Amino acid sequence: MSRLLDHWKLPQPLEKSYRPWQGGSLPPDAVPQLSRFCGRTIWIHPSDTADPGSPFTTDDEKTPFRPDVSIESVQLERYTGAVAAEGAKTRLLKTAYYLLKPLMPRSAQLAAQRMNANSRMRKSVYPAWPGDDSVDHLLQAALGCLLDAAGLERTPFIGFWPKGYRWAACFTHDVEMTAGLRAMDRMAGIEEEYGIRSTWYIVPERYPVKSSDFASLRDRGHEIGVHGLNHDGKLFASEAEFMRRVPLINRYIREWEAVGFRSPALYRNADWITRLEIRYDTSYMDTAILEPQYGGVGMVLPYYLDDRVLELPITMPMDHHLINLLRKDTVQGMSEKFRWVVERGGLANFLFHPDYNLEQERMDDYRKVVDEVTGTEGGWVATAAEIADWWDRRHRSHLREETGTIRVDGPAADDAEVWTAVRDGTGLRIERGQ
Ligand SMILES: [Zn+2]
Repeated sequence: MSRLLDHWKLPQPLEKSYRPWQGGSLPPDAVPQLSRFCGRTIWIHPSDTADPGSPFTTDDEKTPFRPDVSIESVQLERYTGAVAAEGAKTRLLKTAYYLLKPLMPRSAQLAAQRMNANSRMRKSVYPAWPGDDSVDHLLQAALGCLLDAAGLERTPFIGFWPKGYRWAACFTHDVEMTAGLRAMDRMAGIEEEYGIRSTWYIVPERYPVKSSDFASLRDRGHEIGVHGLNHDGKLFASEAEFMRRVPLINRYIREWEAVGFRSPALYRNADWITRLEIRYDTSYMDTAILEPQYGGVGMVLPYYLDDRVLELPITMPMDHHLINLLRKDTVQGMSEKFRWVVERGGLANFLFHPDYNLEQERMDDYRKVVDEVTGTEGGWVATAAEIADWWDRRHRSHLREETGTIRVDGPAADDAEVWTAVRDGTGLRIERGQ
């Protein structure tokens, strides 16, 4: 699978012209945020036998630039291996923090977390905060080069969203404890007033829960997904431990007829997560500099983790980061990032924890966010599963030329739209329609 071609869904002749090319043909400023990461140039292709300790060759102009390899290294966060060297010192501090944590008053814990958050935001070269779309830029730059090489000014492609929409949004919720389970109906009620449905990731073995607890929610059109196994922080402790839990998690996926997975605390490993019997995962973020596991995929659009499992990156700041770490107004913090995602025609993937939004004031804030999103023009607000289903149908569809008109063939034929990418100076402009 070519990640570049799968992203764009181009006409066949252009697809066939795709060749790896030399780095020199990419404008050096095409991907400014991507170009340097902790002092390394990260878009250069690693050698085929790259050892995991140094997945990126540095500034080697003789190495052919292979967009797919670079895109993959960021989309699957392979690059973070290079900076696991963030190092012993940080790890020591982290261990000290977790040892001391039970002894610290809540206010001191928050202060320590805030200090850490601020230092991460200050030091981060890549990804950018509060949003990062480096890979979206790289995908555009690469298509621009492909057009130049083919001597074309423009190309049709299958639009990123169904007919009539320019961007999409989904509201997702991780249900952490019993209190959250009980608050689901209240939150869902707000959504239903606005005519939308959302997605609820439930932990199978942390609190008492049975499928009848969410049957009515599901009957009303909401989606149920699986949030780890027991949320003990050890799911990703080792490959053996993860694999031991795979059949246990798969059992709930089948029993609950779920298709989506959200990892607890957003720990993640693409090679492991794809072992689950899911259609999509949503545990990665465009920028994950505040998470326990550092990273960021630089994307505001979905992409595939492997041949089968789709990723819907979380592109909105999390409620508890805004409230506790950044002491930012939730409504305003969400609104800023939301408008940034809409401008890019991306997927605004929200994560609100019912457990952290029990107070009336927080529920009112949530209502304001839902109000802004549903009141913004051109958006498709759907459950994560519906978005994954659309993206999967788009992925299995093709463009076909018929008497001078370009049509979409395949499972997305009925609701897909042909869009056009136009070479515009050194960049690329997207137009809806052909
Ligand atoms: Zn959780």
